[in-house]
Amino acid sequence: MREAQVEAELCDGCQDCIDQCRYEALNLVRIPPSKRLKAKVDPDRCCGCHACEPYCPQHGIAMNWLGPARPSWVY
Ligand code: SF4
Ligand code: SF4
Repeated sequence: MREAQVEAELCDGCQDCIDQCRYEALNLVRIPPSKRLKAKVDPDRCCGCHACEPYCPQHGIAMNWLGPARPSWVY
């Protein structure tokens, strides 16, 4: 399973990602010491659908893999 993650330093608070999230998993919050609002993912609501990532003009959203580590190959 994947989960969206916002890179706060890249986010300018434009809200484009929020408009794309049908699961209401993104919100704007102020993260001190920044005075600007930044997008933040609610991990309890994000299902990893990937809809938000391509809409971020700052390329500030990445999808993190949360599943178990891939099995190592045995030769
Ligand atoms: S991956 Fe999907 S559910 Fe998660 S924040 Fe982005 S649009 Fe919302
Ligand atoms: S689309 Fe990108 S820059 Fe805009 S609020 Fe979302 S994460 Fe921030």
